[in-house]
Amino acid sequence: MTWLLAAATLIGAAPAHAARAAPAHAAGAAKVSIVRLDCGTILVKDFNAFFSDSFDYKPGPRRITDSCYLVRHMNDYLLWDSGLPAALKGKTNDIGPVAASLAQTIVEQLGQLALKPADIKFIGMSHMHFDHTGQAAAFASAKLVIGKKDFELSKGEKDPFGPWRGAGAKVQTMDGQDVDVFGDGSVVALNMPGHTPGHMALLVRLASGPVLLTGDLYHSDEARAKKSIPPFNTSRADTLASIDRFERMAKNLGAKVIIQHEPADIAKLPAFPKAAE
Ligand SMILES: [Zn+2]
Repeated sequence: MTWLLAAATLIGAAPAHAARAAPAHAAGAAKVSIVRLDCGTILVKDFNAFFSDSFDYKPGPRRITDSCYLVRHMNDYLLWDSGLPAALKGKTNDIGPVAASLAQTIVEQLGQLALKPADIKFIGMSHMHFDHTGQAAAFASAKLVIGKKDFELSKGEKDPFGPWRGAGAKVQTMDGQDVDVFGDGSVVALNMPGHTPGHMALLVRLASGPVLLTGDLYHSDEARAKKSIPPFNTSRADTLASIDRFERMAKNLGAKVIIQHEPADIAKLPAFPKAAE
């Protein structure tokens, strides 16, 4: 009798699950789109000293962009990175080697898309640095997707992930394996350690072709061409291994690579509020 009940439960469960999964599969790949958000600007006063451990660049300052991305999967949203802190809006924060500024918050930009923070289902963090985690707490109802080591290392006084620390908090940590965000392979957070121990890049498979967001694997086109490594990366060897994997993936998929801090890469996606599909 017990066996029969269990069998009935299994048989009963199978069609329900299949029915739930069917619409996306029946229609082919899930509809996925991506919008670039402006998450700030950073003046790096000595780009060479700050971003190369091998004197790869000419001396002098360089201005880099700070980007976040809104990925739509059917009717669900992933916010990838959360930029500089909202408190910086309209100001410049000069902390010595870099000066950061912010023109618009993410919440304001989402408002232009008729979205609220509560509409964001997942918030993915390429890594733990301040120019990527600044506005995370505004999306406390979203499930946080983050490298396990970065999540652990962020604990403390200026913890950007306070809302996700309590018991029962919605957190999915990446511990050396990729995270398939929506479960169908269309949006995958990629294990790319080296810049930080839990650093991730993001693969987004659009109908028009795959897109790879670098996180901070690179900070410029020149860094990608020269395989430049910042002296503050946590592991040079891990970074080189991640670069190897990233470039193989980019080549094999024919992916469009977007370096999140590279001003020249803004034009690789349609201008906000338009989405690439
Ligand atoms: Zn960064």
